[in-house]
Amino acid sequence: MTEKTPAIPDDADARRAVAPVICYPTETLPRPDLDLYQRARAGAEKIAEVIVPAREAATFEVAAGQVFRITSIEGPQVGDLNLWNAADLDERFFSGKTRALHGTHVSTGARLWSSLPHLRPMATIIADTLGWYGIDGFGGSVHDVIGTRCDPYTGNLLSGAPYHHCCHSNLTRALADHLDLPLSAAERHVHDVLNVFMCTGFTRDTGQYFMKASPVRPGDYLEFFAEIDLLGALSACPGGDCSTVHSSDAAACYPMRVEVFAPQPGALGDWTPPPRNGYDGSHGR
Ligand SMILES: [Zn+2]
Repeated sequence: MTEKTPAIPDDADARRAVAPVICYPTETLPRPDLDLYQRARAGAEKIAEVIVPAREAATFEVAAGQVFRITSIEGPQVGDLNLWNAADLDERFFSGKTRALHGTHVSTGARLWSSLPHLRPMATIIADTLGWYGIDGFGGSVHDVIGTRCDPYTGNLLSGAPYHHCCHSNLTRALADHLDLPLSAAERHVHDVLNVFMCTGFTRDTGQYFMKASPVRPGDYLEFFAEIDLLGALSACPGGDCSTVHSSDAAACYPMRVEVFAPQPGALGDWTPPPRNGYDGSHGR
């Protein structure tokens, strides 16, 4: 297929020079009380731990007001995170709107928002040992909400080879086992992820999604305050540190740890979970 390059208008430079505006200024977003969350976290006790095996996923439950921590333990490893309202799987993490509100990568203070029509914070990031990384010279950063998850369908399109330990399949099996559902019923609940520890961006010249070796090292962690009762699933991506390839058994992969902590009774004062979004749903009729 050949495409004709469109004619460049005389005012092309002027049009390109128009300054951008932020789509969603966040000054009016409800602010998390990070001081309260961190005070409650300081006295919290560990109540559960789950080890996610390499190239597999595992589920975990966190009650509203509790904290969960995802840790790299044996080697640099990227994790793909799904979150659901524990009582209503239709309410799930909305990667796209989280990206629109907080940017391509998230860190301390960012919130993970739920799908429409719920659109409320599901979790708030309260600690990130990779918070120092910033944006590197390639435009890369960590903990992205721009990738979707590695999946066997895209793998099939690109290589024709079936691979069953992509994050999509890992999350599907883990959710099916947790809820005792057939794989096909579980699969429809799997959604675009938060790529924990993954270092990604878009190339400046072609705008393509890129990954590079994650700066994560064993002991690094990302910690979340659960705003509502959550069911979570984390996949230890077959890409390992995502420095070379994914969707195969080629990369070195390591397990990951998820821990859940419960604050002391009363530590959160009169805090209550955020209500579902207040829009009335009438859509103008
Ligand atoms: Zn993956």
